[in-house]
Amino acid sequence: MRFSTKAIHAGQEADPATGSVTVPVYLTSTYLQHEPGKEGKYVYSRTGNPTRNALERSLAALEGGKFGLAFSSGMAATTTILLLLQKGDHVITGDDVYGGVYRLFNQILRNYGLEFTYVDPRNPENVKKALRKNTRMVWVETPTNPLMKIADVRAIAKIAKSARAITVVDNTFMSPYFQNPLRHGADIVVHSTTKYLGGHSDLIGGAAITSDPALYKRLKFLQNAVGAIPGPLDCWLVLRGVKTLALRMERHDQNARKIVDYLLKQPKILRVNYPGLKDHPQRDVVKRQMRGYGGMLSFELKGGLAECKKLLKKLRVFTVAESLGGVESLIEHPASMTHASVPRERRLQLGVSDGLIRVSTGVEDAEDLLEDLERAFRTS
Ligand SMILES: *Cc1c(COP(=O)(O)O)cnc(C)c1O
Repeated sequence: MRFSTKAIHAGQEADPATGSVTVPVYLTSTYLQHEPGKEGKYVYSRTGNPTRNALERSLAALEGGKFGLAFSSGMAATTTILLLLQKGDHVITGDDVYGGVYRLFNQILRNYGLEFTYVDPRNPENVKKALRKNTRMVWVETPTNPLMKIADVRAIAKIAKSARAITVVDNTFMSPYFQNPLRHGADIVVHSTTKYLGGHSDLIGGAAITSDPALYKRLKFLQNAVGAIPGPLDCWLVLRGVKTLALRMERHDQNARKIVDYLLKQPKILRVNYPGLKDHPQRDVVKRQMRGYGGMLSFELKGGLAECKKLLKKLRVFTVAESLGGVESLIEHPASMTHASVPRERRLQLGVSDGLIRVSTGVEDAEDLLEDLERAFRTS
């Protein structure tokens, strides 16, 4: 089966009890046992729920993996994956991972004896140099947020494997439609389903996908033991979102291309960050591991914070808000919004300047988005 067919059918057979074509929302916590201890397929919904299991099978199929696990948020998925490790273990990760992930690593898990080294993920050699005897995990996001840096999953996974460390790739920005890290050697793929998979800015959710039976067994144990599971209604909403993922991603991608073409000609802009730039320094990696460029981009405005504020105030179709991956176009100022908790010095070191603006392109008519930008640039 091809992608769009899988998105509609994988894991979503007609309901065996009623024949319902859509997977029902199984709002239940517990299940009948015909004799004490003689349990059926389901026992208790933290351990397993038919709506959640349908979502887990669907996401596994979309990533080309064997096993899927759904969580109550991207952060819940991340936390549970990190619990595969033990005190004294070392993790190598990108220096500009999602702020919540950095906070979890740096402010919480470090206190439980895990060690973290942050490297620029663009050069796989940086990962190699950071390896230690106790390195057990390499955690990367690609493209990164908000500068759209690219990590070469194949090269990094190879280095990790040589040190017997597992590679985890956060694939939230590309969604399984444009990128499948398991195919390039990653051991686990993680998603914030809040973003493109849900796709409508109406839920919080997360997922992990793997093809390794031993990793799955441990993650499944942790999912049940830790308990950061999503409710059946949220699972159903993600399943509903997934059905149109291919259509939405195509439009996100087309709209972003048009916006980038416009921005590249706009004299008030210093730089555009976007994986699809013809002169992108990692063009070969982009071509190898991505099938499109997605809907995320950022750009640097001349003049810094004051100019950003003026521009954002003039926009009417774009909504000024955090988050991404929904049908509506969102725009934000990382320095004062998503990255406000990063100390200024570190933020500037990473390249997140005061004049940087991030865009999550929605699926509206491109002409309306372009007119909105043009009006805002003209009048700000
Ligand atoms: C949003 C996001 C997360 C966190 O997911 P939540 O669903 O908000 O918990 C992790 N990684 C990336 C890349 C994200 O965009």
